[in-house]
Amino acid sequence: MLFIQVENALNLKTRTIDLSFLLLPLNRFLYQVESFLVNIYLIPHLSENSPHKMVFTLHYFPAKTITAITTNTQFPENPKALILKKCKTVRDLKQIHAHLIKTRLLFNPTTTENLLESAAIIIPTTSMDYALSIFRKIEEPDPSAYNIMIRAFTLKQSPQEAMNLFKNMYEISVQPDHFTFSGTIKACSRLRALKEGEEIHAQILKSGFEFNELVCNTLIHMYANCGNIKSARKVFDGMSRRDVFTWNSMFSGYAKSEYWMEILNLFNEMRELGVGFDEVTLISVLTACGRLGNIELGEWIWEYVESNRLKGSVNLVTSVVDMYAKCGYVVKARRLFDQMDHRDVVAWSAMISGYSQARQCKEALEVFHDMQNANVEPNEVTMVSVLSCCAVLGAVETGKWVHLYVKKKKMELTVTLGTALIDFYAKSGLIDDAIEVFKQMPLKNVFTWTVLIQGLAYNGKGKRALEFYRLMRKKNIEPNEVTFIAVLSACSHVGMVDEGREFFVSMSRDFGIEPRRDHYGCMVDILGRAGLIEEACQFIKNMPIQPNAVIWRTLLAACRVHKNVEVAEQSLKNLVLLEPLHSGDYTLLSNIYASVGRSEDALKVRNEMREKGIKKIPGCSLIELDGEIYEFFAEENLHSHSKLIYKATENMIKRIKSAGYIPNTADARLDAEEDDREASVAHHSEKLAIAFCLIKTSAGTTIRISKNLRVCADCHNATKIISKVYNREIIVRDRNRFHHFKEGFCSCNDYW
Ligand code: ZN
Ligand code: ZN
Repeated sequence: MLFIQVENALNLKTRTIDLSFLLLPLNRFLYQVESFLVNIYLIPHLSENSPHKMVFTLHYFPAKTITAITTNTQFPENPKALILKKCKTVRDLKQIHAHLIKTRLLFNPTTTENLLESAAIIIPTTSMDYALSIFRKIEEPDPSAYNIMIRAFTLKQSPQEAMNLFKNMYEISVQPDHFTFSGTIKACSRLRALKEGEEIHAQILKSGFEFNELVCNTLIHMYANCGNIKSARKVFDGMSRRDVFTWNSMFSGYAKSEYWMEILNLFNEMRELGVGFDEVTLISVLTACGRLGNIELGEWIWEYVESNRLKGSVNLVTSVVDMYAKCGYVVKARRLFDQMDHRDVVAWSAMISGYSQARQCKEALEVFHDMQNANVEPNEVTMVSVLSCCAVLGAVETGKWVHLYVKKKKMELTVTLGTALIDFYAKSGLIDDAIEVFKQMPLKNVFTWTVLIQGLAYNGKGKRALEFYRLMRKKNIEPNEVTFIAVLSACSHVGMVDEGREFFVSMSRDFGIEPRRDHYGCMVDILGRAGLIEEACQFIKNMPIQPNAVIWRTLLAACRVHKNVEVAEQSLKNLVLLEPLHSGDYTLLSNIYASVGRSEDALKVRNEMREKGIKKIPGCSLIELDGEIYEFFAEENLHSHSKLIYKATENMIKRIKSAGYIPNTADARLDAEEDDREASVAHHSEKLAIAFCLIKTSAGTTIRISKNLRVCADCHNATKIISKVYNREIIVRDRNRFHHFKEGFCSCNDYW
């Protein structure tokens, strides 16, 4: 290895450079040295075998003097080959640069451009400063030199610089060519500078490049990226010749703007015209099929892929998996996924998000564990799907692991990922962690704010939710319709009736958002919770849109708390018309009768239910222990832990009874004997789950349960007492909201 230290008048600082890659013998190199070099110290490598154990100091000696030590080795004749093949690092490049200056080869424009291209584009680690220093030394740069620089600036995230160079070119009257135009348009696209893009488009028309395919393709891309899909299509339609790239630009433009139907129409057009398509085309079309649920076309493409032996393409097969999953054919997606020889992170993510969208969250997490076993690193898309499943299942440990992983891998806390984390923490009842993530996020959008406000509201922190809403408005973030659902439910949770009314009016008055059913439902909840049952009933009757079952059910639930039998009967009548087979509604009315002592009516409702063949949905509670999900069903004997669990439940009930718990059997089967009724409520799924957690976790550990139905009055009461007797925080997420049980109280203030 040979090191040479160069100090010269060429603006190169003193540096040690490794020249051995040039494979040039020292003497040949010296021959090339021009007399303007001030000093060269040659420091040969000090190995035993080295023949060059010496140090040279050269002072202004003429080139001729060195001829004496010249050997016959040639410097490569073709500098381009040398530059492109030998240069792997900036260091290599700078050495060649120095060499080219010495040999005056730099005055050859082609060589200079080769060097410039290497400095600006080919070697990924160079800074643009170095490329610029080369560029500035070119006396009269031609369009190709400009093109290299424009391309490089766009590639290296400085599209504004690219546009400045383009302007500069015009000022000094260098004629742009089609590469210049396409390069600059690309820069506009990066900057989403539609106005500038349109100006350059006008110049393109003037310069007669409007039929150039490359220029047109980038124009289509630019317009699509700036959201002006109509102009993109105009360019597309105006083209006399269109290759597959052109078509693909149009497809990706439509995909970016989520114009899925247009993609399918364009694909049909393509097939009618007999234009050949490629893998990229098919991937766009498959995405559209997934979004539109167009399984027919999706399957046609899959057949095409199979019969044309394209199954080797991971991207294409992954898109088919994704298409199946999005169309709801998760089993087909899984079968195909299992057949894939090579599965990259995109394939795994497609499968996980497929399960997640199909609400098969357990399966999604299983695939995620397989993915980890396969040593495939998850990306943002994976994480977002996994988090949403953790939120649904209440899988706190897995979700927390994801957060740790994100931190450890220093993954960027993007708006999507951060919002998913907040949603997960909020839905897991860890509202402080949700706020923490919110604070750490560098960028937030309206969804981020909304998810936090909603999370606070559902966790019984209505006041804080409204504080965040005010802060959001202060930051001039426009609320959307979901924000108002969050804000209204916050009002409902803290019983702020007047504020709720005001927000309800404000949403259409100040923000032009017409209330949807969900907003009306929130208002009914606000009024009902405050005991304004009659007003709530009237409010429903005056609604300009047809109330749905959820709204009547909200009222029915309010009737249960405020024991209003009359309105409850009305509500059920309306409910039966809308959803005749919903068992929970009958149960609620029967409970209301029972609570006011009308047990005969209660029994009648139960009988009616049985006659109509309405089956109760079995209550199911989920818990996560050591990353595993456990499911508990009411009165279930098949559970693998059953003996242990029933024993634990019995002990737990005994202990809370001595602390004053009296079983409330209103929610049990009314036709059963009193003893059976008591046993039946004792075996509600959340009681089994809590008892199991009490014996399986160490003292003081928070217990988290998610339940598919509403918590019944007896379980609610029992859980309050358990939280006190066992000194445990218990967080139950039921169908409607969170219950944070602590020291004998619940965050819902006994309204749910
Ligand atoms: Zn219960
Ligand atoms: Zn509660």
